[in-house]
Amino acid sequence: MRSALGVMLASAVSVFVIVAVWFWTYSPRAVLAAPDTVSARQAERLPAAASAKSARAPADEVEVTAAIAARPSTVAPSTVASSAVKLSAAMPSPALPAATLQPKAACANADALGVSRVVEIDTTGGPGFGFEHFKQLDFLADKEVVLTFDDGPWPGNTPAVLKALADECTKAVFFPIGKHATYHPEILRQVAAAGHTVGAHTWSHANLNSKKMTEQQAKDEVEKGFSAVKLALGAAPSPFFRFPQLQHGPAAMAYLGSRNVAVFSCDLDSFDFRAKDAAQIVNTVMTKLDKQGKGIILMHDFQKHTAEALPTLLGRLKAGGYKVVQMRAKAPLQTLAEYDEGLVKDMKLPTVSARALSNVVQTVAQ
Ligand SMILES: [Zn+2]
Repeated sequence: MRSALGVMLASAVSVFVIVAVWFWTYSPRAVLAAPDTVSARQAERLPAAASAKSARAPADEVEVTAAIAARPSTVAPSTVASSAVKLSAAMPSPALPAATLQPKAACANADALGVSRVVEIDTTGGPGFGFEHFKQLDFLADKEVVLTFDDGPWPGNTPAVLKALADECTKAVFFPIGKHATYHPEILRQVAAAGHTVGAHTWSHANLNSKKMTEQQAKDEVEKGFSAVKLALGAAPSPFFRFPQLQHGPAAMAYLGSRNVAVFSCDLDSFDFRAKDAAQIVNTVMTKLDKQGKGIILMHDFQKHTAEALPTLLGRLKAGGYKVVQMRAKAPLQTLAEYDEGLVKDMKLPTVSARALSNVVQTVAQ
């Protein structure tokens, strides 16, 4: 009986063991099914990685993620650059209401010269400014001046002029030469980014009143100059123009009128291009200004002595009770597509890239 009982007990133990083994074998597998499913899903997401060793799958996933992330970040600099270019063009953009400009609010120099008044110019019909040639529009009050700079952009001098203006939180009008704008677009973009008004001063600084100059050549000089500024800025310039050597030919004047471009002469010429030093420029401007009481001042950011003179000159203007008026255009110039396109072809540019040279080409070994 004992042996029969032992057999029964052994059988019961065996059954228990079999059930336990079955339970251990199959039930946990059901629990593990979830990770298997997850693994399968991962493999579906990464078909390329699925055929590879499973151990590399996470690395592949990171690589894929990195590749996806890398693509926008590769695009980002040019996007940012073009946005920056658009922004910089928008800042001096005449389309902005004058009331939005509050230079004193952002000025770190509490005692700065600043900008006392911003005027918006409707350039329809090509109004003329500067009493040396045009006397119809007398918009400046006593002690008011407009700072204007020609012939840039140029390395060293233009940035120095920009710094002097920034130190005094004041604004000016720039008339760049088209060729110079193509040589140093990044400097012209700094001018625009600083909130100054940017017009144009022909393509090659040719005398448009010369007897050798045909009407077509004069038109080309004007339009190519504006298109070159647009190409440099990535946005249209203000329809403000100054004739080289202040040589206003009647045909060119009529043409600018038809293009709704304002023509700038000046009220007082600094003659900075022939000054022997910075002090002479300061003396010339202040002597004329104290006599005339106000006016549009003609200077050149192209000239080294002008850049050197500007901190002192701005200080003298402030001390003398003069106030700076900024001139902006109501709307940007509509450049002519044939000149925009012709310029790009001339320069053999496959695309119009707004990216600075330093962003495109970097010396990594020397
Ligand atoms: Zn000039």
